[in-house]
Amino acid sequence: MVSHVKPDGDTLGAGLALGIALKRIGKRVHYFQQDPVPRNLRFLPDALCVSRDVPADLPGDTLWVFCDMSDYSRAGEFLPKMQRENMLDIDHHLGNSHFGAFNFVIPTECSTGTAVMRLFREMRVEIDRDLATCLLTTIMTDTGGFMHSNTTPGVLELSAELMRAGADKEQITEEIFANKRIAATRLLGRVIDEMRFAHDGRYCYSHVDDAMLAQTGADGEDTEDVVNVLRGQEGVEVAALFKAFDGEIRVSLRSNGRVNLQAAAARLGGGGHFRAAGRTLYGPRDEAFAAGDGALSAEGL
Ligand code: AMP
Ligand code: MN
Ligand code: MN
Repeated sequence: MVSHVKPDGDTLGAGLALGIALKRIGKRVHYFQQDPVPRNLRFLPDALCVSRDVPADLPGDTLWVFCDMSDYSRAGEFLPKMQRENMLDIDHHLGNSHFGAFNFVIPTECSTGTAVMRLFREMRVEIDRDLATCLLTTIMTDTGGFMHSNTTPGVLELSAELMRAGADKEQITEEIFANKRIAATRLLGRVIDEMRFAHDGRYCYSHVDDAMLAQTGADGEDTEDVVNVLRGQEGVEVAALFKAFDGEIRVSLRSNGRVNLQAAAARLGGGGHFRAAGRTLYGPRDEAFAAGDGALSAEGL
């Protein structure tokens, strides 16, 4: 099971659910993830089995299952080279490159986890508490706790099914949306201080860098939700957070649904969804600001 860099609850929850189900039918399973499991996802079953090390004795017919990424490069540069025929791509991103020999890509799914639930139906997998916890985590992550527009009646029905199967919604809420570290809140204050507006107040952007992390004691994991605060300001249609850590600038984009951010991110070489997308840029911050503005303007901001 392969998850993407800077993992979230969807890529990891979907991979863990599949891995746990496959182990039950006697398959040998390993979890590859280049970055460590974020603090707030360590409660997931099997999270402690995840590693960037790949066993040396994998057979030639090993199936590499990529969850929640529009291209295999999102798995990171530590991923060993492999043949396309060994790749299964399970995803819900717009513009998925169908990089696998097998591609199970359903852009109308709210999360990769709900695509995995479809597979489970076909495989007649019984959803127990562990699987339910992983799967409800994928839904709650990618719907922003049932707030984003991908929260359809069907998604709520699936979530109810998972709660009945034993998923602890309170725990997931606490781990993913509450439990903020004080350092994270101090960092949020700094990002808000740096907030700027453009396009008649329809665009809000800000930035974080290594110095701001050092001043507040926060780290990259503490920045994951910050862009949503920018998006939540009155009149804002698009928000961008430019995260300049370790010599690169990761841009996180969020929209209220008017501007297509997958298209804007694709102009910069990145990807994502209509309302949430991203890209890693290199070079000075002001150039990144200009590139972001250019791509968003071209998409009608
Ligand atoms: P983030 O802002 O990091 O939470 O990412 C929002 C969405 O954009 C997610 O669906 C990511 O998969 C996608 N995304 C972020 N960065 C990139 C990138 N460099 N290339 C392709 N997709 C990305
Ligand atoms: Mn993801
Ligand atoms: Mn996802």
